Amino acid sequence: MAITRPETLIEVLDLDRGLLPGARAAARRFGLLVPRGYAALMAQSDPHDPLLRQVLPLAEELRSPPGFSADPVGERTAVHAPGLLQKYQGRALLLLTGACAIHCRYCFRRHLPYAEDSARLDRAARAVRRLAEDPSIREVILSGGDPLLPDDDSLAVLVGELAEIPHLRRLRLHTRLPIVLPSRVTDRLCRILSASRLQPILVVHTNHARELGAAARGALGQLHDAGIPLLNQSVLLRGVNDSAYRLAALSEALFECTVLPYYLHLLDRVSGAAHFEPAEATAIRILDQLRTQLPGYLVPRLVKEIAGAPYKIPLDRETAYETVR
Ligand SMILES: *Cc1c(COP(=O)(O)O)cnc(C)c1O
Ligand code: SF4
Repeated sequence: MAITRPETLIEVLDLDRGLLPGARAAARRFGLLVPRGYAALMAQSDPHDPLLRQVLPLAEELRSPPGFSADPVGERTAVHAPGLLQKYQGRALLLLTGACAIHCRYCFRRHLPYAEDSARLDRAARAVRRLAEDPSIREVILSGGDPLLPDDDSLAVLVGELAEIPHLRRLRLHTRLPIVLPSRVTDRLCRILSASRLQPILVVHTNHARELGAAARGALGQLHDAGIPLLNQSVLLRGVNDSAYRLAALSEALFECTVLPYYLHLLDRVSGAAHFEPAEATAIRILDQLRTQLPGYLVPRLVKEIAGAPYKIPLDRETAYETVR
């Protein structure tokens, strides 16, 4: 059973009970949710543990500085059918569920009305029809919430339906479950993905090397053995991974698991997450240091999502100020 009560988390990790009132207040806005196995990777009695920081509700979340909003990346306006989101050419996002196995405090989806918007598999039929009508779409991305929360039977049916759409070529999954709930990666799941006509690719979400415990490494190994290409995306988070040292350790740990770094996202400015945001200049400097330490293939692309932009905007020392402003 996952941990859902601030007092349980504080007890399990032997943390200062002074954190409790803030945690309770923040959890009323966006509930606490931490799988036990993920909590087991955290250090005891350390309020600054980088894994704990990602899930512990804090009083800071109640502040809402200017520039932070409920829908920072324009998700609500990009919905094409219930649960179908398209912002970029050739790729559409199917939101299979509003639920996740973990609640990341910095999540830009924390305020989105997923109850209404998600396709929920049972309502996916309309989204699938819509995809079938649009031959410009070559890649469908299963997202959410977490697209691996539905069971294998339901996923098998959906993947089968998608494979029948002739213009679709690739099936991508954006999921954090192999990292935070590795037991969800079953042999059957691997077969469903590897046996499809569609070329599969799986993008996990890892922010810190310590998230790759033995179970997560096992799950990634299983996916790799099934021939599924693996990428990782991270969010640059203050107090979690905002140093070249930590990001280099993350890239190297990912590569040990045959996962290549893909994106390093700047924080989406969702209200309640301001305390996670490093300055943009800091982000660019960290990336620059990372480049000096790692081979190019282990350096993620630092990107920023701007509502209405045709792709995720790369941030670079040379180009940052011209491209973004
Ligand atoms: C991030 C995102 C994608 C994927 O973008 P890539 O650059 O192809 O990884 C697709 N659709 C939406 C709505 C997204 O937010
Ligand atoms: S797993 Fe992803 S979608 Fe789910 S809460 Fe975390 S950041 Fe948000």
